[in-house]
Amino acid sequence: MPVLGLGTWENTDPEDCANAVKTALEMGYRHIDTAQIYGNEAEVGEGLAAADVDRDDIFLATKVWIDELSYDDVIESTRESLDKLGVEYVDLLYIHWPAREYEPEETLDAFNELVEEGLTKRIGISNFEPDQVREAVELSDAPIFANQIELHPLLPQEELRDACAEEDVEIVAYSPLARGEVFNVPTLTEIAEKHDVSEAQVSLAWLREKGVTAIPKATSEGHIRDNWESLSLKLDDEDIDAIDTIETVDRRVDPGFAPW
Ligand code: NAP
Repeated sequence: MPVLGLGTWENTDPEDCANAVKTALEMGYRHIDTAQIYGNEAEVGEGLAAADVDRDDIFLATKVWIDELSYDDVIESTRESLDKLGVEYVDLLYIHWPAREYEPEETLDAFNELVEEGLTKRIGISNFEPDQVREAVELSDAPIFANQIELHPLLPQEELRDACAEEDVEIVAYSPLARGEVFNVPTLTEIAEKHDVSEAQVSLAWLREKGVTAIPKATSEGHIRDNWESLSLKLDDEDIDAIDTIETVDRRVDPGFAPW
């Protein structure tokens, strides 16, 4: 899985969304993240089609919404997602949240059926807590490839990362820029100034250092490029220590149906 992807939540302006996907792919991004609930799968599909990059070279992920997690709804809504995206398969299909219609055994059976039919290459989970990760791993025939969770310097999620590592489940960091809050953290600003880069790059380089994949959402070419350039930023031990010891904790995504 490419270690840096493009997020698309709230990128709902049709033209902006398709352009962001095309721009990112042509810049070198090979991982795109969307979801049924973002309402932009068709626009993401337009961007994929417009970019001069082969489908098979792209790691494309979408997520099944919490209202669509009964067996039949998983199958049907995923077919609709593929239709909108204009692709024959996705590389990773996530259970968006373990909430509402989520029934571990039934939902995972349907995800396994989609793997067998070749409609998704891999099964993902998102916003799962340690016990739910272990339960999903236990119940699924196909491996649980990744848990997509909120993760950034203000929410380092060490316990959850350890639990996933024990189960061989990769981590994908969502809101890796803390939805813009990384620009207001003095420690990150000091490190950014030291390396002459943005706070966004510092946060993304820190996540990479932790062995985590990040999917920052960006709309303009400038932001998409700034985040891409984080791949050349090497933080030193002192930087990592300083970020690891930030005490402020700030969870940015916390809906009522969250499992914590
Ligand atoms: P984020 O990536 O932490 O932050 C996005 C914000 O940062 C946007 O306002 C963006 O502005 C701005 N930005 C991006 N790059 C920048 C840069 N280099 N300099 C300055 N500002 C920059 O937040 P997110 O959208 O919540 O998370 C990323 C992705 O994770 C989502 O898009 C989605 O794909 C996924 N996600 C998943 C879940 C889940 O439940 N699984 C939940 C939340 C998010 P512009 O758009 O104007 O560039």
